[in-house]
Amino acid sequence: MKQLFTYLLPFIINLSCSKETTVKEHIPAPVVILLGAPGSGKGSQAAIISKQLGLCHISVGDLFRANIEQKTELGLIAKSYTEKGELVPSEIVNHMIIQRTEQKDCKKGYILDGSCRTLDQTEYWISHLQKSSTPIAFYINVPDEKIVERLSGRLICSSCSTPFHTAFHPPKEDGVCDLCSATLYQRNDDSSDVIANRLNIFHENFDAIQERFKKEKLLYVIDGDREQDQIAGEMIAVFKAFMRPSVSQDSTDDTLPRDKKEELGQSR
Ligand SMILES: [Zn+2]
Repeated sequence: MKQLFTYLLPFIINLSCSKETTVKEHIPAPVVILLGAPGSGKGSQAAIISKQLGLCHISVGDLFRANIEQKTELGLIAKSYTEKGELVPSEIVNHMIIQRTEQKDCKKGYILDGSCRTLDQTEYWISHLQKSSTPIAFYINVPDEKIVERLSGRLICSSCSTPFHTAFHPPKEDGVCDLCSATLYQRNDDSSDVIANRLNIFHENFDAIQERFKKEKLLYVIDGDREQDQIAGEMIAVFKAFMRPSVSQDSTDDTLPRDKKEELGQSR
């Protein structure tokens, strides 16, 4: 089975590439790449800004799981690796994303949440996106100790799955769900050791990834240790200023502070 897919893969990839050339003839669509450690709030920010900017939100984790569940061609190839405990090659994941971006709701642009986890994925996306779109990357920077605080305090209801947080959203009674009175528990992923390990892996890879985006003058660092609305507001302002030449006329409002404009002017 896997051999057949390995044989077919170049054809699947060719198919994706030939479709790509038709996209290029249109005005390049904006693409926002969200970067950040696990727990830095990429998913929440993607949800907020995708609504406000009218861009499609592609969560790579969700897309990956959906492909496997729906037994798509690429999902079956991916499964043949995960079943053996092997890492799914980047090309497979990249092509799942490409297929998703070719759907109608992504034609006006999209937000990539959970891509570019390794340098080879980063190289691929930078080269692919610069051919067919106008990309910008935001690194949501949150200090490690804040991430540990956020994640290690998370509690989930064992019955209705409502999330709580020991510091930010504590239950009325310790260890008990406000809604259904069932016991609250901590996910294995959220233990301090596991979080520290995930953060180490993130930092090992991220230095090189960050440098790559900086070299292309595509990276904007956002202080992620603030209220969600403030973070989203800054990203939207920067996005509008950055995309001004390639998006519609209605985004010519002058909301960006002067220093931000100069910063972007230099970074382009
Ligand atoms: Zn409950």
